[in-house]
Amino acid sequence: MGLFDFMKKKCIRLICFDLDNTLYDYSSAEAEAEVHIAGIIKEKFSKDKLDQEVILRIFNEIKHHHMHHDLEPEKFSRSLWIREVIEHLGLKMTGKILDNYSKTLERKYWDFLTPKIQLFPDTLYTLNSLKISSRYKIACITDSDGAKEIKIDRIRALGLDKYFDFIITTDDTKKNKPSVENWEYLLKMSGQKVQECMMVGDHPEVDLLNAKKLGFVTVWSKEHIPTTIHIKYVDYEITGIGQLIGLLKRYN
Ligand SMILES: [Mg+2]
Repeated sequence: MGLFDFMKKKCIRLICFDLDNTLYDYSSAEAEAEVHIAGIIKEKFSKDKLDQEVILRIFNEIKHHHMHHDLEPEKFSRSLWIREVIEHLGLKMTGKILDNYSKTLERKYWDFLTPKIQLFPDTLYTLNSLKISSRYKIACITDSDGAKEIKIDRIRALGLDKYFDFIITTDDTKKNKPSVENWEYLLKMSGQKVQECMMVGDHPEVDLLNAKKLGFVTVWSKEHIPTTIHIKYVDYEITGIGQLIGLLKRYN
C-alpha cells in the first residue's frame, strides 16, 4: 500500500499528546528548579559545608535512576527524590522531620518550576485549531509527578485543561509510560477505534513505541530536541507542534 492510499484510508478522530517537552519546554524550567532546590538544601545544612554542585549531581543521579526505569508512579515523587538526596549525603535528619522537610521542598520545587514553563510558540494555536474544528477528541497521557493532583494542578496552571477531553496521568493505570496499559485505558475511556487515534510525543521509546504496537498513528515532535535520526515505528515527524494541523489536513 502506497503512502497516499495509507493516508486516504485512515481518518483521525482522536489525538493524544504527551505533555512535557511536547507542548512546552519542561526541561529548562526543570533545570532551574533543581538548582533552586540544591541551593535551599545547601543553606539548610550550611554547617556541613556542602557544595551546591555536589547536591545537584546527586539529585540528578537519583532522578535518572528513577525516570524511565521505574514503572510505579509514586517513584516519580520529588519528595522521594529529595529524601534520597539527604540520605545519600548522610545529613542528620530522619523520620517524620525528614518526611515533612522533603514534602515542603517538593512544594517549593513545583511552586518555583511551574511559572517558569514556557509553552511552545504554536501550542495554543494548535490546540485551539483542533478544538474549534470539533472533528477531534483531544487527550493527553502524561507520567505522574508522584501524585495525580500535582500534575493536574500543573496542567491547570498552564491553562491547558480546557482543551482536553481526556486527561490520563499514569496514576490512573498505576504504571508509568511506556506501559501499554495507558493507551489501552485511553481507548477504553474514549470508545475510539485504535486506527482512528494518533499519538504525538517527543520521546519515541516512551511515547510512541507501544502506541504504535497497538495501532495508533505515531507522530514524533522534534521541537524540543531537533535531530536527524529516523525511527521505523514513527509514522510522521514534525519539527514544531504547529505542523500537526497541516498533517491532519492531509488525513481528513
Ligand atoms: Mg515528553
